[in-house]
Amino acid sequence: MTKQAPFGTHDRSGERKCLWCRRTLPAPARTGRPRLYCRQSCRQQDYEARLRATELQLGDNELVVARVQIDELRDAAHVLAYAVDDTERDLAAAPNPTKSELLEMLTWLLEAARPVRDLCR
Ligand SMILES: [Zn+2]
Repeated sequence: MTKQAPFGTHDRSGERKCLWCRRTLPAPARTGRPRLYCRQSCRQQDYEARLRATELQLGDNELVVARVQIDELRDAAHVLAYAVDDTERDLAAAPNPTKSELLEMLTWLLEAARPVRDLCR
């Protein structure tokens, strides 16, 4: 299975991102080359992925990932999507929710969003 690999070190906001995990990189030191990776393990994983890509003759924007990782991300995204739908429906049905209703919605959204966040760490 392949997916689009992150390309370049900047996102749309102009922040510099790790080439492997896409975490925001710290501001570069005044001297020396700008960092491309947030940590050594990201540099190593990217290096190994590039070796595999060469062996498999993949293009620059293709990456081999485990099906289980894609499935986990897809499942977490679906749960979050349902929570967003529920919250939008609740807000449409009751445009002036009470504080406790808002807290309930926020709690549900956070529960649904945490698995997505945890996959990013
Ligand atoms: Zn990284």
